[in-house]
Amino acid sequence: MTVRFVHRLTAPAPGWTTTADVIVVGSGIAGLTAALELRAKVDRVLVVTKGRLSSGSTVWAQGGIAAALDPEDTPQEHLQDTLVAGAGLCSEDAVRALVTEGPQRVRELMARGARFDTQPNGDLTLTREGGHHRDRIVHAGGDATGAEVSRALVAQLEAIESDPGIEVIENAMVVDLLTAAPDADGRPGAVCGVTLHIIGEGTRDGVGAALAKAVIIATGGIGQVFRSSTNPASATGDGLAVGLRAGAAVADVEFVQFHPTVLWQGAGARGQQPLISEAVRGEGAHLLNSHGERFMMGRHELAELAPRDVVARSIVQVMKEEGSDNVFLDCRHLGREFLRGRFPTIWERLAERGIDMGNDLIPVAPAQHFHSGGILTDLRGRSTQPGLYAVGEAACSGVHGANRLASNSLLEGLVFASRAAADAADAVASGVVRQSQPVDRPAPTSLVPATMRPQVQAIAHAGAGPFRDAAGLGEAVEQLAGIRARFQTTQPAAVVPQTAEWETSNVLATASVLAVAALAREESRGGHQRTDFPATDDVNWAARLAATLDPDGRLALRRAPLELG
Ligand SMILES: Cc1cc2nc3c(=O)[nH]c(=O)nc-3n(C[C@H](O)[C@H](O)[C@H](O)COP(=O)(O)OP(=O)(O)OC[C@H]3O[C@@H](n4cnc5c(N)ncnc54)[C@H](O)[C@@H]3O)c2cc1C
Repeated sequence: MTVRFVHRLTAPAPGWTTTADVIVVGSGIAGLTAALELRAKVDRVLVVTKGRLSSGSTVWAQGGIAAALDPEDTPQEHLQDTLVAGAGLCSEDAVRALVTEGPQRVRELMARGARFDTQPNGDLTLTREGGHHRDRIVHAGGDATGAEVSRALVAQLEAIESDPGIEVIENAMVVDLLTAAPDADGRPGAVCGVTLHIIGEGTRDGVGAALAKAVIIATGGIGQVFRSSTNPASATGDGLAVGLRAGAAVADVEFVQFHPTVLWQGAGARGQQPLISEAVRGEGAHLLNSHGERFMMGRHELAELAPRDVVARSIVQVMKEEGSDNVFLDCRHLGREFLRGRFPTIWERLAERGIDMGNDLIPVAPAQHFHSGGILTDLRGRSTQPGLYAVGEAACSGVHGANRLASNSLLEGLVFASRAAADAADAVASGVVRQSQPVDRPAPTSLVPATMRPQVQAIAHAGAGPFRDAAGLGEAVEQLAGIRARFQTTQPAAVVPQTAEWETSNVLATASVLAVAALAREESRGGHQRTDFPATDDVNWAARLAATLDPDGRLALRRAPLELG
């Protein structure tokens, strides 16, 4: 069944308009970094964020930020570890930018007020995570790195809130990108703003338009595409979906990282689930099957500390063999005092749910955790669509390839947000980007009721989870196309346009592209594992898959070079 995608969501016409030089969408590490950098370089920045300034995955990050800060460590070694994790699909240029600029960006973050854990002599405490051959992870509050990063960046932004050069609109969802008149082939013109819907109460109401010379998408991940995820509720793939509808290429969408040890809260649990950090296994916790046996012994030389995807798939296999829904994490032998001191956040979250980390086995199962794919960008964060940038988890900058190295994503947010902000500021100053007039993109439009979300998530979970095959993916592609077909319209909206419906439409669009790309990639690599094509196929598939919408709404897949310059 060929079911087209739409170029815009059903939404009321904007009732008000505002303008800026650059709009930043999202306020995680990537959005806040971009906004702070831009403020010093352009006259007017507008930050739009779906929740409060602290919303997004950033605040939930536990482990830390990877950077070659130890005098014994080098960016070259960090580069090697990253390339190995990326399984042949990283952009080496992008990784080089990440690892060479990373240490300086982390120091700047500290200058902005972030306080990382230190040793008694004042040196940063650096730890190691899976896949790193050096101690190079800075962390804060033991396992509360993201909360500290977010606190520091939000404080910086709040300190300049009265500055007329920066406006922050919280509780506002960007529904679509505004684009200029289409080209001769009917493709959307340059991005020149956003439509946004004010969710809460404020000085503005309903749907408005914000016009700008450039837009930076920093909307984070896609966790809500799956039935369970470590990502917060805001991670509905909005950036990927709005970018695609506005003509931008998205890439590496099939590569999804499933975290092996996410608290299992029963078959009915949906949405964000508590993460039990890899660091707990790093400190010596064991994984047990329902007979109390350590099943990772003999499956991998590193046992519980095997790469994340290996552990996640082993757990899924054990669950399948046993007919169970979860396995167990055992850290009782590590001692209550140690556990409470080393993992205060995890200890608290488990205690709230009646689990005593020092005495009880912790039920865990894999859940979606990180998306390597997103809006395809070059080394300066520029998408394929003029006027549009993407940074952080919403982007496919090429630093993660087929699989992310632990703690590289916060670093990506810092490094590429700085790069994109610098480039956007230059483009504004030099007149390379100008304010274009937006035009309406053609019908049909679409709006999917929020009640469909569990169905979409169940399809994604069944077909595009840690193990995939042609039959399951083919079924997912068909079922998702069927749902898209039901809710496309040229008529006035039958479904009431509001946040949950726009988000669910984005979840459906993202799930659809993911399933199509995963079906096309007939090999196994990193975060994409096919039981029917279990080997990595470097002859045919050492390439990036990019997807764009044709003017008629057909999804076109093509191979994109790994290096975009
Ligand atoms: C539990 C957990 C633990 C993690 N631990 C680590 C770790 O230790 N180290 C590491 O490097 N990475 C870690 N990660 C991954 C890392 O946190 C994320 O990849 C990173 O924070 C993403 O940052 P971001 O700025 O791109 O997006 P986010 O921090 O997710 O922010 C996205 C922002 O966009 C806004 N937004 C979304 N859609 C819209 C819209 N339509 N309109 C307006 N605003 C919108 C959201 O409200 C939010 O403000 C972890 C992730 C999770 C969930």
